[in-house]
Amino acid sequence: MESVIPFHPPVALPVSGSELVFPVRRVYCVGRNYAEHAKEMGFTGREDPFFFCKPADALLSVADGSQGVMPYPPRSTNLHYEIELVVALGKGGRDLSVEQAAECIWGYAIGLDMTRRDLQGEAKKQGRPWEVGKAFDLSAPIGPLHALAHTGPLDAGAITLSVNGQAHQSGDLSQMIWNVPEAIAYLSSLFELKAGDLIFTGTPEGVGPVVTGDVMVGAIAGLGELHVKVGSPA
Ligand code: MN
Repeated sequence: MESVIPFHPPVALPVSGSELVFPVRRVYCVGRNYAEHAKEMGFTGREDPFFFCKPADALLSVADGSQGVMPYPPRSTNLHYEIELVVALGKGGRDLSVEQAAECIWGYAIGLDMTRRDLQGEAKKQGRPWEVGKAFDLSAPIGPLHALAHTGPLDAGAITLSVNGQAHQSGDLSQMIWNVPEAIAYLSSLFELKAGDLIFTGTPEGVGPVVTGDVMVGAIAGLGELHVKVGSPA
């Protein structure tokens, strides 16, 4: 097919311990899925979580054993980290039951839902959409995918983030308000899910700012570590 501009390169993530890649379709994110994080953001922790999206090309793929570099984004002076378990779907559907949703999980990765908190806060205040706070370029550093076939279901286990060697976030996957199959099932009532979709499943408490030169290390039991340095503005 002739195109008027070049086709965009497909977005794909490496699969840990393999030469294969995982093509990405959409990136969904769950907001306020841990009660203590909802509280630190000024909510009660008893509200239902909700969803927003990032573009697939906002992913910053970081290979096993390497350190990714995320340039400090423009128009912000309050860039925050949020460590999250990312779920990759091997199949999808509409109106899935929780049992059907569990069968859609292909694997997992460690991700960072990086946030321009100042722009997000302004959007909240004005009743505007969150894209400028959440969906900016390279706002989603992510490690390689790990197949469920190797990890087993990740329902519990430590999820942590340190900055320059200092612990800042420390939670457990079992503390999610909506567990992974519940989040997938709920999401499938709003959107038709498909193979290739990723879901960032929310962050535990302890979010905070980083500055240029900081090194973030995220870890999730069973998935290893994700190392990302905050670089100079692009
Ligand atoms: Mn988040």
